[in-house]
Amino acid sequence: MPARRRATARPRAALIFGDLWEFDPAPETADPRLKPRYELFIGGSFVRPRSGRYFDSINPANERRLAEIALAGPADVDAAYQAAARAFRPWAATPGRERGKYLFRIARLLQDRAREFAVAETMDGGKPIRESRDFDVPMAAAHFFYHAGWADKLDYVVPGRSVAPLGVVGQVIPWNFPLLMLAWKIAPALAMGNCVVLKPAETTSITALKLAEILQDAGLPPGVVNFVTGAGETGALVMGHPAASKVAFTGSTEVGKAIMRQLAGTDRKMTMELGGKAANIVFDDAPIDQAVEGIVNGIFFNQGHVCCAGSRLLVHEPVADRVISRLRNRIRVLRVGDPLDKNTDLGAINSGAQLAKIRRLVASGVREGASLFQPPCRLPARGFYYPPTLFTGVTQSHRIAREEIFGPVLSILTFRTVDEAIEKANNTPYGLSAGVWTDKGSRILRMSTELKAGVVWANTFNRFDPSSPFGGYKESGFGREGGRQGLLDYVRLAGGGEP
Ligand code: NDP
Repeated sequence: MPARRRATARPRAALIFGDLWEFDPAPETADPRLKPRYELFIGGSFVRPRSGRYFDSINPANERRLAEIALAGPADVDAAYQAAARAFRPWAATPGRERGKYLFRIARLLQDRAREFAVAETMDGGKPIRESRDFDVPMAAAHFFYHAGWADKLDYVVPGRSVAPLGVVGQVIPWNFPLLMLAWKIAPALAMGNCVVLKPAETTSITALKLAEILQDAGLPPGVVNFVTGAGETGALVMGHPAASKVAFTGSTEVGKAIMRQLAGTDRKMTMELGGKAANIVFDDAPIDQAVEGIVNGIFFNQGHVCCAGSRLLVHEPVADRVISRLRNRIRVLRVGDPLDKNTDLGAINSGAQLAKIRRLVASGVREGASLFQPPCRLPARGFYYPPTLFTGVTQSHRIAREEIFGPVLSILTFRTVDEAIEKANNTPYGLSAGVWTDKGSRILRMSTELKAGVVWANTFNRFDPSSPFGGYKESGFGREGGRQGLLDYVRLAGGGEP
């Protein structure tokens, strides 16, 4: 009796908690054991830079200096490559099961110092302690564990073919997941018998240098891993060094293209993990509450400093109003502030430069006619912060729908048909990830086939596992990290031919 039910139904009260109560501060208090100054890590020791120069690492939560970091110049990068080249033959000749033991030890030592590393990561990068504690550090350890397991199984990487290490690998990583990106890079390289020269990002070098202490404690032979710190010029030296057999880069598409131009004409093996502008697609049969949580996780995890962030929400028209109104309510209760507080959902933006970029792109969205929504939000007086932001009325030509913002800003578009959703999702130069929310398995299969993205999550988002390969298409790069596929980028196959 639908008519009668309508007559008696009362409007459902919306459950909005908002600022109904205050949370007491819950700061994480573990000592990050920071040093006032960090040197380069070359040949198994901490050494002063031949350049004689240092730069400051700032805590983005309060703009205070955390430590001084050595700046590697050409002679330092050269020394790191020489140390790695000396270490290569004995390391490659070490039986895989022995190499695996080193990786296993590194993972265990990282677990032992997990709280200290989580605090250091949060202070250096600005991410909430909940994330560095529950995601970054455990996932970094998991990558070392996973690759420890592969080290003695080289015969099974490509069954029937033998594999050999490449030599010295030059690696450059970004600031959004400093320790985790480092683990993604060095664990497979080492497991396969390569040596490494790695440059962390200028704003987040500290956990790499703390990991160097762990490498020493694990007894890793000197020179197998070398860390050279500095800015983009140091990165260019690492990528361009003639002794590199392979380079692996994670960072922006713009810098990735510059490196490829720099290396054009060389026979160097390359992996490029670049930017993204992922579509998170919600159909009308999706479980809306779960989808809203997935959308929030997709764009606000790590303040949106995530290459695979679901930064474009494509929502089916029949449920668009419902999804948007629940999203607004949900982001009203996100807590922005001190990254070391265990209640914080959104911490600090990594740097003043990144904050300026977010503001520029948000201003372009307003100028181009999209509607901005930001909940009332008290931001700390010092430090780099930005509130969670939604844009509705976005069209495909808006800059906020096309460019990677790398901040807590969601651009919302709508669609009517499955074909339109696919067309809009693929209408981007990037191809790193995508999300699909629907009750229909057949639709998930179709979408995952037709979406041009390295990863397609179904009824979830931002799920990672060391055994699952990750990487992009188009301007999001090439090569894979993680899983068996990730190993193939660190080996040469005997007998020619691709696997
Ligand atoms: P950048 O490209 O600016 O920097 C990445 C790294 O490259 C940093 O260590 C940087 O040094 C260094 N670098 C800068 N210029 C050069 C150069 N000419 N040659 C060699 N190295 C150089 O990216 P961000 O650090 O700003 O990171 C954000 C980007 O990374 C986003 O686009 C994001 O999507 C992408 N990313 C991709 C991932 C993936 O797996 N596909 C994962 C994580 C991030 P410095 O920091 O000192 O400037």
